[in-house]
Amino acid sequence: MNIAENIRKLRSSIPGGVSLVAVSKFHPEDAIREAYGAGQRIFGESRVQELVEKRPDLPADIKWHFIGPLQTNKVKAIAPFIHTIQSIDTVKLLKEVDKQAARNELIINVLLEIHIAKEESKHGFSRDECLALFNEPVGEAYPNLHFCGLMGMATNTDNMEQVRQEFHDLHQFFETVKSLPGVTLSHFQTLSMGMTHDYRIAIEEGSTMIRIGTMLFGEREY
Ligand SMILES: *Cc1c(COP(=O)(O)O)cnc(C)c1O
Repeated sequence: MNIAENIRKLRSSIPGGVSLVAVSKFHPEDAIREAYGAGQRIFGESRVQELVEKRPDLPADIKWHFIGPLQTNKVKAIAPFIHTIQSIDTVKLLKEVDKQAARNELIINVLLEIHIAKEESKHGFSRDECLALFNEPVGEAYPNLHFCGLMGMATNTDNMEQVRQEFHDLHQFFETVKSLPGVTLSHFQTLSMGMTHDYRIAIEEGSTMIRIGTMLFGEREY
């Protein structure tokens, strides 16, 4: 795997307005350094333990995005350095992240994960829960968070028409949420959708941020 070349190729094939999260979970620090050397600065990890072990050896200007299921009791461990948490799926978790951000005297960026897949197992807010949240000014309820947008994962299926429909619906929902009174539009700009097997469709359907692991780093190593 030539990671630097993979990064360059992918970058040059996606529109300028789409940001790339290099998903480095299960890949060693050396792989991350190689991607960093190719100019990549945003990395995604999905396990707290793995992230806190890797981070100290890596460049300090990396923007770490947390993208996996997050237990409230683990927020403490990442709050001091995390740039964005994309996998916010409950109000309880929002409250904890706000509390830990306050304790560290910083702002944490969050994306709300919306349940769009047909599978029961996928995490995320329902659309109704999300709408209810943004009927109040979230900036007042959660002063230490910036609500930067939404994240979604499509159903894991070969039926790409279904995947497209799910991304299409999430994009429409994103636009609906933007029009709610509680949203701060200067922050709420990101629609994170698309992984290795479906990112092209995601971009066609309005994604502004793709999360790519396998295509950059190969199959997971440990
Ligand atoms: C692992 C993961 C990705 C990257 O998936 P690839 O298929 O390896 O590109 C993206 N998003 C989330 C939430 C993930 O857990």
